Amino acid sequence: MDNTQVRKKFREHFGTSGELYFSPGRINLIGEHTDYNGGFVLPGAIDKGMLAEIKINGTNKVRAYSVDLDEYAEFGMNEADVPAQSWARYIFGVVREIAKRGGQVEGFDTAFSGDVPLGAGLSSSAALESTFAFALNEIFRLGIDKFELAKIGQATEHNYCGVKCGIMDQFASVFGKEGHLIRLDCRSLEYEYVPFNPVGYKVVLIDSVVKHELASSAYNRRRESCEAVVAAIRKHHPEVSLLRDADMQMLAEVKNEVSTEDYMRAEYVIEEIQRLLDACEALKKGDYKTVGEKMYGTHHGMSKLYEVSCEELDYLNDVARECGVTGSRVMGGGFGGCTINLVPEDKYDHFIETAVKGFKAKFGKEPKIYPVKIGDGSRKL
Ligand code: ADP
Ligand code: MG
Repeated sequence: MDNTQVRKKFREHFGTSGELYFSPGRINLIGEHTDYNGGFVLPGAIDKGMLAEIKINGTNKVRAYSVDLDEYAEFGMNEADVPAQSWARYIFGVVREIAKRGGQVEGFDTAFSGDVPLGAGLSSSAALESTFAFALNEIFRLGIDKFELAKIGQATEHNYCGVKCGIMDQFASVFGKEGHLIRLDCRSLEYEYVPFNPVGYKVVLIDSVVKHELASSAYNRRRESCEAVVAAIRKHHPEVSLLRDADMQMLAEVKNEVSTEDYMRAEYVIEEIQRLLDACEALKKGDYKTVGEKMYGTHHGMSKLYEVSCEELDYLNDVARECGVTGSRVMGGGFGGCTINLVPEDKYDHFIETAVKGFKAKFGKEPKIYPVKIGDGSRKL
């Protein structure tokens, strides 16, 4: 990211200059609705993120300027000092969560700007939190480990922004590594870097610009379905405490004890956990064709079994297949947001043109295109 704008604004507001820190947004190649079932996810940090210039200011206040929103906020660092602007709450939350862990943060000035699209499912919020968690840890020499930095970001969302998210977004932002995705075990929080060097391919997100309106009630119902199936399986297999522990054989045994709908939900989850593991094996062999097939498998499952897709996303998936795209699926919880596509370079232009044109004609709105590369996690520049 170009830092001239941040540098310029910082100087205008604070008359000096500070240190630059960056944290990325993220994609998730495969593994959707697996986190709360104790399964795996496979995120990677991207080459888009949040850039912040920061300098200790010798007061007990934070003075923050959002370059992109052209808004300024000033706030103290005690629990009662919560700022009005929602963007400032991410910074305030990080300061508070550090304090709760015994970290001593003093006043600082900051100007920041990002190129992660807001609310598109690439986690601009995690990029924001991770930037400040990582930077404040360095600047004030707090000695907090990287995992805790991710948890500070997550706790910020929970306690100051009203979003009950998992750990994946912040984890990927902090731990990202160029040329790698990260297989994260959502139960044990163990992780492994998996090579991702898709030579001859591009990764591109297509934003359906559909908002996730149904998402939260539907999400809760999906969780209830998973729990209902676990409860049924447990009667036969007491060792099963999450769908992660179950297999298709166990699911088949309870077919008559659970609703058709719950059965379909669990089938998707059990298959999705396996698809992710298969995709990781394929990645280790550089077999991107198989990875792509797994991505299509995920889309099909999310659309037909988990039923969290929508007309726009299914359309984008169909176009991808017709254009010879290697892998394509809805990314994120569903009901809107982006598809993630693994596209052979020679098919890229045709695919994008066809998708944009067709989408506009069919839905009367323009999808947004975000090409991404896998990059490194939180760092000082
Ligand atoms: P996402 O899926 O991108 O994480 P969220 O709704 O969780 O979407 O987070 C978006 C919020 O994060 C914005 O409303 C804003 O408060 C904050 N934010 C993200 N990027 C920026 C930015 N570049 N400048 C200011 N605030 C930002
Ligand atoms: Mg977010």
